[in-house]
Amino acid sequence: MAFETVKKNLEARGFSVKTFDTAAEAAAYLDGVIDGVSVGIGGSLTVQEMGLHEKLAAHNTVHWHWTDGQEARAKSAGADVYITSANGLAETGEVINIDGFGNRVASTLYGHKKLYFIIGRNKLAPTYDEALWRARNIAAPKNAQRLGKKTPCAVKGDRCYDCKSPERICRSLVVLWGPSMSLDTEIVLVDEDLGL
Ligand code: SF4
Repeated sequence: MAFETVKKNLEARGFSVKTFDTAAEAAAYLDGVIDGVSVGIGGSLTVQEMGLHEKLAAHNTVHWHWTDGQEARAKSAGADVYITSANGLAETGEVINIDGFGNRVASTLYGHKKLYFIIGRNKLAPTYDEALWRARNIAAPKNAQRLGKKTPCAVKGDRCYDCKSPERICRSLVVLWGPSMSLDTEIVLVDEDLGL
């Protein structure tokens, strides 16, 4: 996939962008540039699939609630570096995330020296509306299904039903039109399918 258009549009909005053909190459890059710092990781199948936690933990202090216990959520909020993915990326440059706890989207707005989004080609959609649709109707239902939630979307993982379930995982929506003023934000685009 050609990332030229989305790269140009992201850079015009103030994001730094790196592109890679493979997840392995992206992981090697991040393993090289993130060194000797504290790192927070948001819930991310992309990060898990890349084996990035294991690599970074060898020479950084890493806080990830998926591997390091629930207290890692609070510790990751104050980390130097934060890493997550996106639920949708518009070719026009908007970065879209939906969250349940809110820790992941909060960390994409404030509180770190450096923020990395690792985004596979499957997250890309031509327009903002289509990227938002993807986040709501593909990523969120599949995540609800993966987590075994008692929500209508989890039955088939087919679409969002805008449920009012107590187990609803979609509690907040954050759209980055650009990086927050205090936050050096880099988008790592990978020409492979990663995450949901
Ligand atoms: S709002 Fe409810 S139905 Fe829609 S994706 Fe989220 S959990 Fe599923």
